[in-house]
Amino acid sequence: MKKNLLDFSAHELNLFMKEHGVAAFRGTQIRKWLYQGVDSFDEMTDISKDLRAWLSEYFTTGALKIKRLLKSSDGTCKFLFDLGDGNYIESVLMKYSYGYSACISSQIGCKMGCKFCASTGAGFVRNLTIGEMIGQIITMNKHRGIRIGHVVIMGVGEPMDNYDNVVGFLREAQAPDGLGISFRHLALSTCGVVPGIRKLSEEKMPITLAISLHSPFDDERSELMPVNNAYPIEKVMDACREYQADGGRRITFEYAMIKGINDDKEHARALANLVKDLQCHVNLIPMNDVPGTPFKKSDSVTVEVFTRTLERMGVEVTTRRELGKDISAACGQLRRSATEESGNAN
Ligand code: SF4
Repeated sequence: MKKNLLDFSAHELNLFMKEHGVAAFRGTQIRKWLYQGVDSFDEMTDISKDLRAWLSEYFTTGALKIKRLLKSSDGTCKFLFDLGDGNYIESVLMKYSYGYSACISSQIGCKMGCKFCASTGAGFVRNLTIGEMIGQIITMNKHRGIRIGHVVIMGVGEPMDNYDNVVGFLREAQAPDGLGISFRHLALSTCGVVPGIRKLSEEKMPITLAISLHSPFDDERSELMPVNNAYPIEKVMDACREYQADGGRRITFEYAMIKGINDDKEHARALANLVKDLQCHVNLIPMNDVPGTPFKKSDSVTVEVFTRTLERMGVEVTTRRELGKDISAACGQLRRSATEESGNAN
């Protein structure tokens, strides 16, 4: 298996070149090409043919192969990438008034078992490497001729379950000679893995931390999200308070509105009481219908009442814009259909 050169940091790449008898500055030249999303080493015109031949024999450039691309009428694109080892991952590209934002995956599948999520039903295969996460961004940039300026790690996978690679990705994403995206424009969403939140606060990276909460009640949350059995709500809130006290930025609480399950006034009041002592905002997510589950989207009046209840109790709340409605296969479904087509049982 060839090694992905995007897995190397700038320092590691220069060192690696030096160790192999190649001038270290060649590493800097190569890295520049890699971040332009080149598919082939032959495109690296300022390095020798011999070096290009050696690189192609043992390495890949990290640009991903697009297996499928769904385009919405509002400009949202959903990419299915072929990782070349029989596995596929999804990323979503969205266009906002402030520029392009990407939602990327951090794992192939997920172990967390959230009941409303199609990613978990397709099983867990492996973690993504740093290079595979960067590869999602540079391939979308190259394919669309754009520069993605915001990234959320909110696609398939639980980022804290792939902690080292995710933190490595965040560093490379922020590096001026990497993707050059400021920490303020990077966000990570976790289902509430407390040790991960604690570790992240020690990294001193001013990214946005998002917590997928979805219920303010432990018994109900444990039903929806088994991770709550290990890390109940109060422990998650304690970790959030510590994260914020440690210099972390405003926290976002993600709350999928599920019809008849978590969308009444009692839930809104309990949610407000839970989060109101934190510098935070609640992001209500219109739920995607997930085939094979009983979960349906709350109606707009219910969402409105929920929003007003939170606001009256002093909580800042937004409702996520429904982008890509016409390609709104829930997270993980595209990958699942591709793996089934290719006969992979994962
Ligand atoms: S919602 Fe996130 S953490 Fe939960 S199963 Fe899906 S991908 Fe994993």
